[in-house]
Amino acid sequence: MVRLLLVGPPGAGKGTQAVRLAEAYGIPAISTGDIFRANVRDETPLGVEAKGFMDRGEYVPDSLTNALVADRLGHADCEPGFLLDGYPRTVDQVRALDEVLADQGNSLDVVVELTADPDVVVNRILLRAKDSGRSDDADETVIRNRLDVYSRETAPLIEVYGGRGLLVSVDGIGEIADVTDRITTALRERGIG
Ligand code: AMP
Repeated sequence: MVRLLLVGPPGAGKGTQAVRLAEAYGIPAISTGDIFRANVRDETPLGVEAKGFMDRGEYVPDSLTNALVADRLGHADCEPGFLLDGYPRTVDQVRALDEVLADQGNSLDVVVELTADPDVVVNRILLRAKDSGRSDDADETVIRNRLDVYSRETAPLIEVYGGRGLLVSVDGIGEIADVTDRITTALRERGIG
């Protein structure tokens, strides 16, 4: 039973690690980016609204994002716990998540920050663009904008969760399996897993 968040700049490897950790802990990985991309692909009303923001490397408005996650966390598969990948990303989203969890009588157990040097992540994202098919991965201007938005809007969350004593920072650079081991070891040290 664990409720955890993965935070880190674009290209730090959150999505890759999220899938591996979710399997290791037997909980669903919830990626707001994946949910938005599925909606864009299916041309749902949410996807139509989200697309422009995503293409520019901006955040989808909090009102849309918060409603989406509140709904998702109400599904039965989240009862044993969950891993949130890419949410919350703003201080307002932190507040919204706190409320949703408090209404359920729950709270977060741990927040894992994956760290990575900005120049390294730009190259990683450009490389993965070939496989990911993500238009927001293929354009360096959009990638740099995503990094700027991360520094401005999301980096402050590190302090918020640090202040709550929930933060574990892990170096995101290295072999995929090594990074997973670093995370699971750090969580075990906190009595998780
Ligand atoms: P990701 O796959 O996490 O890199 O997300 C891709 C894009 O989806 C982001 O650049 C945003 O446009 C949008 N997005 C994903 N999660 C959020 C969020 N929590 N808040 C706002 N926008 C988001």
